[in-house]
Amino acid sequence: MFEQKIVRIEQANLLGERPRKAGCNSRLGEHGLYVRPSIVTITTDQGAFGFGASRISQSEAEKVLGKSVGEIFQNDPKRVRDGFRPIEFPIWDLIGQLTSKPVYSLVRSNHDEEFTAPCYDTSLYIDDLHLTDHYEAADLIAQQAQQGMDKGHTAFKIKIGRGAMHMDLSAGMQRDIMVIKAVRQNVGQSATVLLDANNGYNLNLTKTILAETADDKIHWIEEAFHEDNRLYENLKDWMHKHSIQTLVADGEGEASIKLLDWAEAGLIDVVQYDIFSYGFSRWLDLGHKLDGWNVYTAPHHYGGYYGNFASAHLKNGIRNFKFVEWDAATVSGIDDSSYKIQNGHVLVPNRPGFGLILEKSIFHQAVAKNGFSVEL
Ligand SMILES: [Mg+2]
Repeated sequence: MFEQKIVRIEQANLLGERPRKAGCNSRLGEHGLYVRPSIVTITTDQGAFGFGASRISQSEAEKVLGKSVGEIFQNDPKRVRDGFRPIEFPIWDLIGQLTSKPVYSLVRSNHDEEFTAPCYDTSLYIDDLHLTDHYEAADLIAQQAQQGMDKGHTAFKIKIGRGAMHMDLSAGMQRDIMVIKAVRQNVGQSATVLLDANNGYNLNLTKTILAETADDKIHWIEEAFHEDNRLYENLKDWMHKHSIQTLVADGEGEASIKLLDWAEAGLIDVVQYDIFSYGFSRWLDLGHKLDGWNVYTAPHHYGGYYGNFASAHLKNGIRNFKFVEWDAATVSGIDDSSYKIQNGHVLVPNRPGFGLILEKSIFHQAVAKNGFSVEL
């Protein structure tokens, strides 16, 4: 199998729709109804085929043509080689097809039990800015959490930081608190509640929100403010003094180059580098390192759709993997129906590669419309 050569690469942006329009976070406007994953297929000279998310350009793709599987994939430990990371998800999928194994079995060999990964509903955006009444606003987000529960979720991430930009500071803080309490009340005590401020707070506002919601058992606070070791030290001391167990999560987007040092030092409990920009193979190596530091792994991928599935497979290679971020969407051209959400977990199909099915006629229409196709 390692002698097979890549003879065709095709790319297209597919169109997907979320079940509900996603509103603002603390620093951006509406995220909307649609997702547009860039999907790439690779085909070998013996007709083997893999596909996955990739932003590889046409000229980069041309350089991959003619390479053998052995040149692009290292077998022990299993990793996509450095120069081929821009196309690594299609490669992992191809290796899965060639070996008839799901990617989760490639990253760590499992017995035949059903494979699952814990996940959270990431859809609770700031969707209430049109409402003037805080009670109505809190009720709206609590109803959205209910929709997630009805779909099998038991963990929920709430966007906060309304007072950073969208609302007056004190009104925004008050509404954030009311939203958190309404969601907690709706999802019950056994559910997991996560917060994400997208750097819209400062240290004092972070303490305020954690003090005001101490009874609501916030599992993690994500991007409270731009990461800063002095501020995180202060926050950690304060939380310790007040017996607040909330974890500090950070690292998506333009993270500090010192983020991992601060994670090793115990200031950051959950690292959230993006699954696409950091990459699957690098995440496997990083996850082992984080395991050694007793730091949790929870890759970001919001808006990428494909990350729902890729992150679930990554879980098998990292002991302290915390959650898959679940950004539900239906994408025309990809059949993901073998994945299910049940009792707070992604049920991952025991199928080769990433276990998704590409509907080739729809994909080829999209290639003709907005993509490219290169052949040896
Ligand atoms: Mg975030």
